[in-house]
Amino acid sequence: MTQLPLRAQLASALGRSAATLSRMTGRGDGSVIGGRVGLMLEPDLLRKLARDRKLALVSATNGKTTTTRLIVNALLDLGEVATNAFGANMPAGHVSALSQHKHAPYGVLEVDEKYLPEVLDTTGASVVCLMNLSRDQMDRAAEIWLLAQKWRRALAGKPTHVIANCDDPLVTWGASTAASVTWVAGGQRWKEDSWCCPECGGPLDRKDSFWACRECTFHRPEPHWVLDDDMAIDPRGQRWMLDIQLPGSANRSNAVMALAVAETFGVPVDRALPRLREVTSVAGRYTMVERDGRHARLLLAKNPAGWLEAFDVADAQLPIILSVNAQGPDGRDTSWLWDVDYRILRGRPVFVTGERRLDLALRLDVADVPFTLCSSFNEALAMQPPGRVDVIANYTAFQQIRSEFGRAV
Ligand SMILES: [Zn+2]
Repeated sequence: MTQLPLRAQLASALGRSAATLSRMTGRGDGSVIGGRVGLMLEPDLLRKLARDRKLALVSATNGKTTTTRLIVNALLDLGEVATNAFGANMPAGHVSALSQHKHAPYGVLEVDEKYLPEVLDTTGASVVCLMNLSRDQMDRAAEIWLLAQKWRRALAGKPTHVIANCDDPLVTWGASTAASVTWVAGGQRWKEDSWCCPECGGPLDRKDSFWACRECTFHRPEPHWVLDDDMAIDPRGQRWMLDIQLPGSANRSNAVMALAVAETFGVPVDRALPRLREVTSVAGRYTMVERDGRHARLLLAKNPAGWLEAFDVADAQLPIILSVNAQGPDGRDTSWLWDVDYRILRGRPVFVTGERRLDLALRLDVADVPFTLCSSFNEALAMQPPGRVDVIANYTAFQQIRSEFGRAV
C-alpha cells in the first residue's frame, strides 16, 4: 500500500487521538468525532484512505449492520478487514473505520442509504451490496423512489459491481444502471412500498416470487443466487444449508447476500459459510439479558419492515415486551406505528412500555390485541414468570435497555 500524503497522515492520526480522548472521557466509542476531526483537517481524507483497498459498501433500509458484519467475517479469510463496527454509517464513521485499520487491504463499510452516492463517488468502491428499500419512520413512498433514482445515477458509468436483491423491485431498479450485477433472490417481507413500477408507475403483478410491470418491460431479473427457506442455492445450482446462529428469515437473506459478496472477493461458499456461523449477535441484537431468572432476548425494530422481521423471529409461545420511544434517532412522530399489522400478537401475553407507550397502546387497542401497560422496562420484566421472554424495541428504547444491562454485546 502506498504511503498517505503527510497532511492526510496527520489528519488521520489526529482523528484517532480525538477518538481515544472521546472514549476515555466516556462520550461514546469515538468513531464519529474522530472521523469529523480528520475530515475537518483534510476534506479529501476519505478518498485518500480508501485508495489502494478493495472496498464493499453495504446499504439498505434494514439489515445493513448485520450484513456488514457477516461479510467482514467471511472476508477475514483473506486478511485484515477495516469496518465501521459501531454502525457509524456516514462519512465521518467511514474515515474513522479506515484510519483505525490503516494497512487493511479490504474494507466493508455500512453506508446510510442517503449517503451511498456520495460515499461511492468518494471511495470508488469496487463492490456495492444492496438489500432492501422501504419507508423508514416518516419517509414517504416518493422519497424512497427519489433515493433509488440517486442510486441509479451514482452507479451509472462506474465499473462498480453490484450485488442486489432482485426480490425488491425498487432495489432492482436502483441497481440496474450498474455495469454488472449479481442478482440475489433474497426475499421480501414488506411489500407495501412496491406495488407500483418504479420505471413507469404502472401496477406490478406478482406471481410467487416473480414480479413484472403490467405496462412496461420492467420485470424481475433471473437470480444468480436464491434463498430457498433455510437453503442458499449458489450460481452453479449447489444447495447449502444456512445453519447460521442469527435467527429468522431476514438474517438468512442477509447471509445469502454476504455469501454472494464473499464470492466476488474470491472467498468460496465452503470457506465463507463456517465464518458466518460464528456470528451470534450484532451490536446487541438477539442478545439474551438476564435478571432474577427472566431471560429476555433483545430484538430491534426501527421501522415498519423491521417490525415484521422481529415478529418473524419472536417465539409465538412466549410473552413479549414492546418498547417504543420517539427521540431524534427514532423519528419524533409515531404515526408509522399505524403501518404495522400487530394482529399477529393476538393470543400471547403482550406488555407495552417506553416513552411513547400510550401511542402503541392505542394502536394495539384498535387492532384488538390485549396488552398490559407498564411504566418501565424493569416493571415489565418483573411481571414475567421466570423463563424466557422476547423484547422488541425501537432504536433509543433498545439502547436504553442495553445500557441498563451493561451494554450486553
Ligand atoms: Zn413499468
